[in-house]
Amino acid sequence: MKNKTHILLIYTGGTIGMVKDYKSGALKAFDFDKMSKHIPELAQLDCSIDAVSFDKPIDSSNMNPDHWAKIATLIEENYEDHDGFVVLHGSDTMSYTASALSFMLENLAKPVIFTGSQLPIGDLRTDAKENLITSIQIAALQKKGKPVIQEVGLYFEYKLYRGNRTTKINAEHFQAFTSLNHPPLAESGVHLKVFDEYLMQRKSVKRFLVHKELDSNVMILKLFPGLNRAVVQSVLGTPNLKALVLETYGAGNAPTDHWLLEDLGKAMKNGLHIVNVTQCSGGSVILGQYKTSEQLKELQIINGKDITTEAAITKLMYLLGSGFSHKLFKTVFETSLRGEMQ
Ligand code: ASP
Repeated sequence: MKNKTHILLIYTGGTIGMVKDYKSGALKAFDFDKMSKHIPELAQLDCSIDAVSFDKPIDSSNMNPDHWAKIATLIEENYEDHDGFVVLHGSDTMSYTASALSFMLENLAKPVIFTGSQLPIGDLRTDAKENLITSIQIAALQKKGKPVIQEVGLYFEYKLYRGNRTTKINAEHFQAFTSLNHPPLAESGVHLKVFDEYLMQRKSVKRFLVHKELDSNVMILKLFPGLNRAVVQSVLGTPNLKALVLETYGAGNAPTDHWLLEDLGKAMKNGLHIVNVTQCSGGSVILGQYKTSEQLKELQIINGKDITTEAAITKLMYLLGSGFSHKLFKTVFETSLRGEMQ
């Protein structure tokens, strides 16, 4: 008889784990041990489900690298005994956490599926049940005794995306996420369709490694018309700042003001890593395509290509925390490590 797949549910907080107190109308976290009471459908799934919860579930606005390390530890400790993981998380910062975890979990050979919801489980029109049930089904998918998904994914409103390619785009619609630079990995309709060609392909079997050291001496600076030198200098002069995501226009373009290039160049000479990421949700930085990015190219700024800001900032934290040498930093950043960029 075929053994059932074992899934670990990790509840961190967010709307998905809340129920409405019908008397007061307020949202409150429900007791996760009583999950089957709220979602009796779980009993029909052909897998066994264990659940662990943060002691104090949090709104994902309070997520930080310590929480990421906690999630990584839970996965590490349960890695051998489980076939897949589903992380319930508030949608607000889910793309950051999914990106961070994709870097922290090296040589991942099992699914880690993030999901959440726009409406709490106890709401009549909730999207939580579908998101949760399908995430578990996806995490339990096996082919020839091996998990079908071997990477960090994010499932929301009928689509599974690569986690580090996602961005939250809507605070209202059930379709809260998008992944403009990478197609969905799977789609749920009448059938659950997995698009094998878009999945991470593991070339060799390597030991699973968990990296928990992240360095948060990083910053995001978004360009806008009117950004002045004093503001730029104050950002670049932040004590201990080690890396900066520069959100540029379009295909990686920036104003050609002499002072801007001078200040960025000086900061880089002093050891600051600067990554050029486009502030568009889709498309890629193409350094040198326009005159307005030529000088950035000459400065040897790191090319973020089509990476999201969420993946760029967490990749910086991971690379800085792993102590990659200054010399190799640009080359390593410009290399896709977990399918996060072209
Ligand atoms: N503020 C909530 C959170 O991110 C929203 C949600 O759960 O979707 O935790």
